[in-house]
Amino acid sequence: MTKKNNQNEEEFISFGHNQNTKIRFEDADEDDVAEGSGVAGEPAAQDESMCDAGETAEVTDDTTSADYYFDSYSHFGIHEEMLKDVVRTKTYQNVIYQNKFLIKDKIVLDVGAGTGILSLFCAKAGAAHVYAVECSNMADMAKEIVKANGFSDVITVLKGKIEEIELPTPKVDVIISEWMGYFLLFENMLDSVLYARDKWLVDGGVVLPDRASLHLTAIEDSEYKEDKIEFWNSVYGFDMSCIKKKAMMEPLVDTVDQNQIVTDSRLLKTMDISKMTSGDASFTAPFKLVAQRNDYIHALVAYFDVSFTMCHKLLGFSTGPKSRATHWKQTVMYLEDVLTICEGETITGSMSVSYNKKNPRDIDIKLNYSLDGRHSKVTRTQHYKMR
Ligand code: SAH
Repeated sequence: MTKKNNQNEEEFISFGHNQNTKIRFEDADEDDVAEGSGVAGEPAAQDESMCDAGETAEVTDDTTSADYYFDSYSHFGIHEEMLKDVVRTKTYQNVIYQNKFLIKDKIVLDVGAGTGILSLFCAKAGAAHVYAVECSNMADMAKEIVKANGFSDVITVLKGKIEEIELPTPKVDVIISEWMGYFLLFENMLDSVLYARDKWLVDGGVVLPDRASLHLTAIEDSEYKEDKIEFWNSVYGFDMSCIKKKAMMEPLVDTVDQNQIVTDSRLLKTMDISKMTSGDASFTAPFKLVAQRNDYIHALVAYFDVSFTMCHKLLGFSTGPKSRATHWKQTVMYLEDVLTICEGETITGSMSVSYNKKNPRDIDIKLNYSLDGRHSKVTRTQHYKMR
């Protein structure tokens, strides 16, 4: 898969199917976009007991991503990458600064505050008080940052898991959080936001963002599939194809070039964060992708967008391949079969998404697809695991 070339990208962030809604990020400098850096993007997932782990867990063969999730958030590197993702951070800033009526004189809860950036935006926008809850050791830095910027009176940093802390106020007016993981749901931090909403948000309170959608499209990707998957067939002359099966099961987080897109793109699922329940994040959704040209299809690609519908003018961003790159990139699921598809033909199927039973921060994906085309007839079920 080729890396996206930012030079030719438009400055607009487009909204998947809502192409009329375009948002301009005036201050966004091309060079500022975090893309393809050495940092492992969003950290891998983990188990509940690791929340405020002060020590680095030893990574052995047995460890799941569970063992270093909160530790990765203790390191500044991951926060640097998120802060430098201007599509992400600037959107939150615009939401807060351009919609002060949502924040001014309000009590705000920042779920997963990290460096405290969203709390600082809110304090600057005139919040009455901001509770910044962060379970990793970054909470200590957040306290210092709040102090250094003169907001100690307005922002209270609470170190601990949102599920375990005591909030010094019975209710909050606004909940803000940047909880989205790869494939939207990886890390399962959404549950923590829903927990906070049910426990502390006043009736009619605001959740920022309040809408998130998952989309699906299909791509030509022979070069990269060869490099990442077929590679295992013959490694220095040896058959390592048992690893190929594992590699096929792990969706790849990477940037897809929009020229690779062969079909249209379909909305799989929309979630209303202000109303949904935790169970709504597990779902089965049908899809139908229509080829826009004759080509070969090697993979399906998932991406998400989020929006802040309570704003005076709708704000949000998309992590799709046609939008400006973000640190979430896209999620690529390779297909067992290479589909030879003709323009106008359709791939139909369904995708089931659920949290892994053993480690609820990981995600299990089941994909059914079929193509009844002139040159290719395929029906298959594949399983993937995000971990
Ligand atoms: N709000 C910051 C950080 C976003 S990353 C920003 O926008 O830059 C998400 C943060 O949430 C991480 O720092 C992680 O440690 C924290 N987090 C995840 N689950 C949490 C939980 N259950 N309770 C408190 N903090 C949590």
